[in-house]
Amino acid sequence: MHERQKRSIIILGCTGSVGTTALKALEEYADHFRIVGLSAHGNVKRLSEIARHWNCHHVAITGSYENAHLPSLFAEGTHVHLGKDGLQEMIRGVQADLVLNAIAGADGLAATFAAIESGKDLAFSNKESVVMAGKLLHAHAQAHGVEIIPVDSEHSTLHALLGSFGRDNVSSLVITASGGPFRDFPVENMKDITVVMAIAHPTWSMGPKISIDSATLANKGLEVMEAGFLFDFTVREIEVVIHPQSVVHSFVRMVNGALYAQLSPPDMALPIMAALAGDSYPLREVVRPLDFTDLTLTFMEPDFIKFPLLRHAFTCARLQQSYPIAYNAADEVAVQAFVDGHLTFDHIASVVEETLQSDWAIPFTNLDEILTIDREVRMKASQLANRYR
Ligand code: MG
Repeated sequence: MHERQKRSIIILGCTGSVGTTALKALEEYADHFRIVGLSAHGNVKRLSEIARHWNCHHVAITGSYENAHLPSLFAEGTHVHLGKDGLQEMIRGVQADLVLNAIAGADGLAATFAAIESGKDLAFSNKESVVMAGKLLHAHAQAHGVEIIPVDSEHSTLHALLGSFGRDNVSSLVITASGGPFRDFPVENMKDITVVMAIAHPTWSMGPKISIDSATLANKGLEVMEAGFLFDFTVREIEVVIHPQSVVHSFVRMVNGALYAQLSPPDMALPIMAALAGDSYPLREVVRPLDFTDLTLTFMEPDFIKFPLLRHAFTCARLQQSYPIAYNAADEVAVQAFVDGHLTFDHIASVVEETLQSDWAIPFTNLDEILTIDREVRMKASQLANRYR
């Protein structure tokens, strides 16, 4: 295939879990894709290896770096963009069909805006972008004529099912959740959960923040808000069901009472490639077909008492305004305090709950206002977290 016909993509957060899976999956399709920009936070060595391998001439480094070593690390002619401004410069300046935003946490929001404003389609695993920007993101994407495609396995499924059946024929979304490693853990022992225990997820292999969020079900809470904003469903039209095997990646309930699902082994390569390839490339087999031998699928109601962060997410999805921003930022602060050994596991939810007791009924109209509110929440949540030290 001619170079110019290849789909050109920028991958942000290329050394993280989703970035690594994406690059591995893309190996099979190197004749269809060109990687024209890459970013990493701290793993500069790995970034340079990926850039050389893919013959990519633009890289961005958002974290700390040793200036002196940079020129020798990258191939001649590589543009190295430094810091948050450098990242913006690369996203806006480099021509590409699509940006994959796999940056973890709230840091990904500015990158999301840059991709949309520079007229590039956006595939994102950065659910924080949608949770924080809410309805604004959709309006922004429409105004700039770009598509926003979710990479989260649940939302990728919902995106495909809604595309097949039509929004008007669907009455509600049913998001599946593995339930995390503490699904059957006694509630009175939740305070004794260590960081190592919380990071070991039973079915998915992911980064530390999202693994801990999966253990508290805050990740599912964020996904409830993400789905509501992304697909325009109210909180009453979204359900969560616990499904420990992570084989059913979500359902849509039809107005006529039927229920449709997507099933595949738990492997992020499938939703990632669905987002990167779009409709234009018939993909070969991305994951092994599901084997029915010894396959048992179970479903149960989530425990909203043991996992209060799921309950609070539904409240924030209903209240909207800046409550989703508050939920996301307070959770990030609390998870970091837990990782640093300043909070017990059960107090992650306490810090978020106490933060949400402030008044976050604050409207916003642009990125700067979102970031201002985000900073305010972080200050509040840090004060509250410090009281547990
Ligand atoms: Mg997910």
